[in-house]
Amino acid sequence: MLEIKKILFGGAQWDFLLEIVGRSIIMFVMILVILRLSGKKGVRQLTLFEVAIILSLGSAAGDPMFQEELPVIYALVVLFSVIVIYKFVTWLSSKSTLINKVLEGEAMVVVRDGMFDLKHEHDGDFSKMEFFSELRNQSVEHLGQVRVAVLEVDGTMSILFYADSDVKYGLPLFPDHYMQVLPHENVDTFACMYCGQIEPTIIENQTCKRCKRKEWSLALKTKRV
Ligand SMILES: [Zn+2]
Repeated sequence: MLEIKKILFGGAQWDFLLEIVGRSIIMFVMILVILRLSGKKGVRQLTLFEVAIILSLGSAAGDPMFQEELPVIYALVVLFSVIVIYKFVTWLSSKSTLINKVLEGEAMVVVRDGMFDLKHEHDGDFSKMEFFSELRNQSVEHLGQVRVAVLEVDGTMSILFYADSDVKYGLPLFPDHYMQVLPHENVDTFACMYCGQIEPTIIENQTCKRCKRKEWSLALKTKRV
């Protein structure tokens, strides 16, 4: 009990509380002003670089709200410096594709011709499950509906679909159908569970010719609705 009291109130100076309210209001207004100055319209999708900026802003703005020995002016200087850096680097990266690539990363082709693109297979940032959920979010039932899918630098997925008449067999993305089946099971067409390669029939221990894996799921050919 005593411990909790110490954690909650230990050494608090009661006359400082009102000042905290004042400091918080000032910092809150300042951070709004700074974010407006940054020129961003919203924060739905942020690149990694922008997340870094937001983190620095947040930490600089938070501390002087409740630390008596920190004058608010210090934080204001930090905020303005960060935003000047942001503006400068954004300007730089609009001039140089290399800097842009370093800061924001590159868009990456995830699906091509109804199959997962294997070029990035050994990249550390290749997280298949993330692609699955992103594609599901875009109402993609199976890969055979997708001509190209690109993972943008802000984490969103851009998709070009096949016309209904061109939809092919593809790897299912929803759990109801994405499950391993065996060669003798009564299945129309098989899809490699890893890369989406399609085979009309498979034998025992069939190896995928694209990715060399051995798990197969049934393939779907449903159209988009
Ligand atoms: Zn495969």
